[in-house]
Amino acid sequence: MRIYIDFDDVLCETARALSHAAKKLFQRNVPYEQIKVFDLQHAFMLSSDEIDQLMGLAHQPGFLAQLEPAPGAIEAVTELQSAGHEVIIVTGRPSDCHVGSVAWLDNHGLEGVEIIYVDKYGRAPNDLPAWAPQILTLEQFYKLRFDVAIDDAPTALDLLTELAGCRIVIFNRPWNAEYQLQPGMRRCDSWSEISEIIRHTETRTSCAGNRM
Ligand SMILES: [Mg+2]
Repeated sequence: MRIYIDFDDVLCETARALSHAAKKLFQRNVPYEQIKVFDLQHAFMLSSDEIDQLMGLAHQPGFLAQLEPAPGAIEAVTELQSAGHEVIIVTGRPSDCHVGSVAWLDNHGLEGVEIIYVDKYGRAPNDLPAWAPQILTLEQFYKLRFDVAIDDAPTALDLLTELAGCRIVIFNRPWNAEYQLQPGMRRCDSWSEISEIIRHTETRTSCAGNRM
């Protein structure tokens, strides 16, 4: 199966790191558990200059490379690959984060996992350096096919409903607690639950295939 895995707050603990950074830089004490909206400017009560500064830090290779993996994520992705699944990281990060993103994968033994950059949030920069990979438009993204997709951001989850035949898994985070589940979506709290959902989806897919 082709499996879409989001990067931030699915594979790694980005919001926790940004919460610490906002506290250090701007003395905003908003712990991870209290991040109730996906918009971090709003969540951390930052000015335009402050959010720009925070995002500038968040996109630096050194910051990205040292993010903590989500518990069990590395083991689960490795097992999915060993089982023959095609794992693709689909991220809304701007693609000038590529160096830090690849460094993170290398640090955790996930060398060579494909990363696709998609303009999930309508904020792709116009002035990318020449070395940065292409960022797909939504139109280009909708031409891709995935059997299962795991994401945490409400906007991204809405986009995924446009992909026919894709099982959507919501990685539970405080900012998606109020997200209204749409038909075919599942919530999960951990990578062990995700692995279980993928195993069931695989069984269902192969049973459907056998009937044809
Ligand atoms: Mg995310």
